[in-house]
Amino acid sequence: MTTRTSADGAPRPLDHDDPMRDYLPEPTRRWHDAAVRRAMGAAVARRDEDRSVIEVPLVVDGRRLDGEGTRDSVDPGEPTRVVARAAEATAGLADRAVAVAATHHPAWATTRAVDRAAVLRRAAAWMRDRRDDLSALQVFEAGKPWAEADADVCEAIDFLEYYARQAIVLAHGAPVQSPPGERNTMGYRARGVTAVIAPWNFPLAIPTGMVSGALAAGNAVVLKPAEQTPAIAHQLVRALEAAGLPDGVLGFLPGPGEVVGARLVAHPDVATIVFTGSREVGFGINETAARVVDGQRTIKRVVCELGGKNPMLVAADADLDEVVPAAAYSAFGFAGQKCSATSRLLVVDELHDQLVDRLAAHAEQLLVGHPRDGEVDLGPVIDAEAHERLLGVVHAVGRGQLVHRHPDGALPEDGWFVPPTIAAQLAADHPLRTEEHFGPVLAVVDGRDLDDLVDIANATPYALTAGLFTRSSQDIARVAGRLRAGNVYVNRGTTGAVVGRQPFGGYGHSGVGSKAGGPDYLKQFVDPVVVTENTVRAGFTPDLMA
Ligand code: NAD
Repeated sequence: MTTRTSADGAPRPLDHDDPMRDYLPEPTRRWHDAAVRRAMGAAVARRDEDRSVIEVPLVVDGRRLDGEGTRDSVDPGEPTRVVARAAEATAGLADRAVAVAATHHPAWATTRAVDRAAVLRRAAAWMRDRRDDLSALQVFEAGKPWAEADADVCEAIDFLEYYARQAIVLAHGAPVQSPPGERNTMGYRARGVTAVIAPWNFPLAIPTGMVSGALAAGNAVVLKPAEQTPAIAHQLVRALEAAGLPDGVLGFLPGPGEVVGARLVAHPDVATIVFTGSREVGFGINETAARVVDGQRTIKRVVCELGGKNPMLVAADADLDEVVPAAAYSAFGFAGQKCSATSRLLVVDELHDQLVDRLAAHAEQLLVGHPRDGEVDLGPVIDAEAHERLLGVVHAVGRGQLVHRHPDGALPEDGWFVPPTIAAQLAADHPLRTEEHFGPVLAVVDGRDLDDLVDIANATPYALTAGLFTRSSQDIARVAGRLRAGNVYVNRGTTGAVVGRQPFGGYGHSGVGSKAGGPDYLKQFVDPVVVTENTVRAGFTPDLMA
């Protein structure tokens, strides 16, 4: 089997002609192995016992700055516990960070792709060496159960390894025709300062993907992490610093989205904006970015990865033994706080009652608790606002509609826990069928047949993920082609895209841009440039050819 590192732990050199050849995703932990569980348990216990507050700085030009005030991030499973205290940036500091990034952009853009790739791969090695500690931090700052936290760290490593290799592919340029007498070359030039605005739900993986994509393509970056998870995002900065990324190429600006994020979006010297988050904020970013202001030399490019209202379709010939655990995990994994989560389970009439009963019985067994306990299935939701909003949603489900809701007594008293909830018999315009709630709430909807389910599935402007369970290969081909979704999963859950295997991203209201973790992603950070040389000039000058 290919290993990623040499005996001394350094990344193995890449094959420059075929850099993707040895790319392999980082294997997630095998929890059935007692030694693996013990190691993660020890990392979680270390983090749990260490009650000191992690100080998260602003980083501009390689220097740590204090900012204006601070904001605490807390443990969603025990909100009285402060995990980290992040310095808060201002609009003025955003201006300064962009100016610094603009100064450092040209040197980074002209650094050889293999050298940029080497920095990213050393950052991956840094994360690999600290995997359990990085996961344990997610348990406390993001409320992620162990396996979810581990998958997030693996994905971050994968982005670094994958885009490192893609940087070399991109540097090869694109093939174009050169007829006799003319030499044409097509290459790619880094666009300029990239603003990265990140969410909290994949607090290491998503910032790492967006930042490393932009860096791999040769851009200086300013990263604004989510307010809820600055300490985790700061680990990416530490990894890249340790990997030798030159000072000034990456700025780090924790702070309020409406102030710091908004300033980065509007700044005339930002060429590209990469955003992952809610539809409302994404729409606003597109609108602002479209306005060209005085002194601006580019038309901004916006890459947005937004929400979803993801369906899973269950055909009459589906195997419910497979559907039930896949649907439950897709809906309730990480308390439903994944953009790819299933929030609508669409089933043919004849299976509806059976599926609902079995799903309720399965959901009843789910253990909700603080994710420091490696056994829990669902942890808390991210913050007080989400908690209050989601409790409102689950308690608004009428008695005739409620299929399952964990009783209050089954939830820990402390912490922002929301009972996993399943509802059925909902009118077509019920918010549980139309809106993204981003929590552990699943709507079950029945339809006449598979075609009817496809129509129901497609009746949303979102188009992120969709699932289909059937044993018919004809139906797979037909329905997968009709489902309005960027990622269609057949006979499996709708979450857990792996870099390089399931390039990920939606369209419609779910986003704009090329898929993360796929072969087109880096091209969003560059402008193609063609050089055409006339090779049969008049006035041939042999004396100049010596
Ligand atoms: P959010 O939109 O509230 O915040 C995301 C980021 O935007 C944060 O850093 C926030 O500070 C910043 N922000 C807020 N207002 C801003 C403004 N006016 N200008 C600039 N930046 C601003 O989203 P969230 O709650 O962090 O994340 C959850 C959402 O993200 C869900 O809708 C989910 O579906 C989506 N998501 C999508 C994907 C995907 O790949 N499609 C992945 C993860 C999450």
